[in-house]
Amino acid sequence: DINEKVATKKIILAAPRGFCAGVDRAVRIVEVALEKYGAPVYVRHEIVHNKTVVDDLANKGAVFVQELDEVPTGAPVVFSAHGVAKAVVAEAKEHNMIAVDATCPLVTKVHIEAQRHAAQKRHILLIGHAGHPEVEGTMGQVAADEITLIETVEDAQKVMPPDDAALAFATQTTLSVDDTAAIISVLQFRFPDITGPRGEDICYATTNRQNAVKDMAKGLDLMLVIGAENSSNSQRLVEVALRSGAKQARLVADKHAVDWDMVKKATHIGISAGASAPEILVSDLLEAIKSRYDIDVVEHGHVKENMTFKLPSILQN
Ligand code: SF4
Repeated sequence: DINEKVATKKIILAAPRGFCAGVDRAVRIVEVALEKYGAPVYVRHEIVHNKTVVDDLANKGAVFVQELDEVPTGAPVVFSAHGVAKAVVAEAKEHNMIAVDATCPLVTKVHIEAQRHAAQKRHILLIGHAGHPEVEGTMGQVAADEITLIETVEDAQKVMPPDDAALAFATQTTLSVDDTAAIISVLQFRFPDITGPRGEDICYATTNRQNAVKDMAKGLDLMLVIGAENSSNSQRLVEVALRSGAKQARLVADKHAVDWDMVKKATHIGISAGASAPEILVSDLLEAIKSRYDIDVVEHGHVKENMTFKLPSILQN
């Protein structure tokens, strides 16, 4: 009807949003590896958790596999941004594969911390989500009996570390800042001598994206977060929006996943994108809304990011 056509939607775009330095680097690593070695270049696991990115690289000649037994001996294989267990690196070496490590340097930092704690005989309590590849990679830096996964406050209340063991904690990089703080405070209360990073290991990109959403959520009728179901940091943005006052919030893979009935009922609509979602998905979504309504777009947030990471040495030259 006529009223609907002239309705103006106020769009608030979160800043920063979308690609982080680790994702940007991981995508470039696959592209440069394709140039250097030629197709096919194998990639263990989705390089980053985004179908658009994965499909694009697959079209350029990347072959995505779940495990290394799907990779021929001697072939180039890229490890995803989430990192891998030591056993995976060893397996690649054993089969003479050309291993190209796209692990985000901020994940590698956590791997090194875990190794250091284990070397100093500290039992590690790793805060993270079971089954996420980053958690598998971090747990796989040390022996299975040197690390225990803590997913929730209840886990933190119940965990029984080995008798007399000195303790340390570490975290996944893409967790909810607030949930993680609650878990750490339980651990520090129960185990006053526990050591760990100053805050947690949540990365700058996760923190900045959550803060931006937190800051704009109040008064939003609808928050749309572009990201994949298996993207931890994107899922957390939806939770943050709801807790911070958005009336509704939805994770959408792209414009095709939008519930237009919800958009119709909303006047103030926030948009953000997880660290693995390319900006093209945001502009496509804006175009899709614009084709249905008048829109008035403002950006909300002032934090500027200027982090960049170098390519791994095997690809430099
Ligand atoms: Fe690295 Fe953070 Fe991006 Fe993960 S979300 S790739 S840890 S910068």
